[in-house]
Amino acid sequence: MDVEIVTIGDELLLGDTIDTNAAWIARELAQLGVSVVRRTTVGDETRSIADAVRGALARGHGVVTTGGLGPTADDRTKPAIAELFGQPLVFDAAQWERLRRFWRDRGRSGEPPDANRQQVMIPAGATVLPNSLGTAPGVLLEDERGGWVAVLPGVPREMRAMIRESLLPWLWARLPVERQVVRSLLVRCTGIAESQLPAVLGDLAEGVDGASLAYLPGQDGIDLRLTLRGVAAAEADRRLAAASRLVRERVGKYVYAEGPLDLAEVVLAMCRDRSLRLAVAESCTGGLLGARLTSISGASDVFMGGVIAYDDAVKTALLGVAEETLLRHGAVSEEVAREMAGGVRDRLGVDVGVAITGVAGPTGGTPEKPVGLVWVAVDFGWRQRVHGGRFHGDRAEIRHRASQAALDMIRRELADRG
Ligand code: ATP
Ligand code: MG
Repeated sequence: MDVEIVTIGDELLLGDTIDTNAAWIARELAQLGVSVVRRTTVGDETRSIADAVRGALARGHGVVTTGGLGPTADDRTKPAIAELFGQPLVFDAAQWERLRRFWRDRGRSGEPPDANRQQVMIPAGATVLPNSLGTAPGVLLEDERGGWVAVLPGVPREMRAMIRESLLPWLWARLPVERQVVRSLLVRCTGIAESQLPAVLGDLAEGVDGASLAYLPGQDGIDLRLTLRGVAAAEADRRLAAASRLVRERVGKYVYAEGPLDLAEVVLAMCRDRSLRLAVAESCTGGLLGARLTSISGASDVFMGGVIAYDDAVKTALLGVAEETLLRHGAVSEEVAREMAGGVRDRLGVDVGVAITGVAGPTGGTPEKPVGLVWVAVDFGWRQRVHGGRFHGDRAEIRHRASQAALDMIRRELADRG
């Protein structure tokens, strides 16, 4: 079954509102295995709304619309759809009662204004989709050829609740049984470029044992998502686990997690297993690495703390970085990263000291030290590891990628040592 989305509102066409509804709906439907094949945005006129929905139905697709269910004259979606289906709009007494209650529960006095009455005008023959968070109910209409239109309000919070509570269960029940089961498993990778993966994966690049493989690049690296459809849940999970094993064998050291785990959590667990305590010295990330580690509950038995050494004076005073090193190599350098890592390890008395220093941009780059250049060093006591690299993206992305690289350096060293 294919679906089209029609989002309605002049504010969307003007660019005042970003159409987050369509993206959200598409993601929800994808989880069911239902594809969105076209998205259309139209203004608040009856004619454009009817044209867009008529076109989608003619192409043989289900349609989800959002917007234009409000109480004002520019809310024309229901009249447009009713006319398209050749049905009159009928006052729904039960929905009106619900709207009155909603009005009173909000502490408003008197009766709702007459303007609200148009919100409970329902096309004859339609199924009402109740709105637990707002005044406008949605409607669902089906035509004789099996086409359908779900009409939802534009307010994202209301629309989302209605999709989850009403539309998804209804769609699920209509899917052929063999398509009803969709299971997926994430294999999280970092430190490898998306374009390198096909060669590494070889014959698995297109999918593994009936499971499709999707490449999802993000700030954490690349997530490989294995998905199986139309197989009973237990069987699907077993096959996905086997597929994941094959993928992990090929991708090897770049894989840091199976399932939706953050690398910080993986690193904390590895340190915990080895009774290692950790401290951070952060310049360009300004505490981001510490924040990632402390966002994991139970971090305290591994993570001791750290120093936000943003200014050179702090690198010297609190971490013992030599002024001479700073003068000679500059704050963003291998040498300073090493001294920061060693310094925080010594001064906080931990097993592993991690340091990050870089140019997060967008200003402050030079030809020798461009925006995105980051040095990461980890002092393990038994050895130091250090790596300089150039990250891309905006300031937030560069900072996040730097924290990811630092965590990954710890993970790799501990994995290598066993
Ligand atoms: P209501 O019944 O509450 O009046 P409505 O169905 O008339 O809602 P709109 O008036 O079109 O919906 O939009 C209400 C709010 O929802 C506005 O703030 C609008 O910016 C937001 N909104 C509408 N459509 C979208 C969309 N596609 N993506 C994100 N936000 C949206
Ligand atoms: Mg409106």
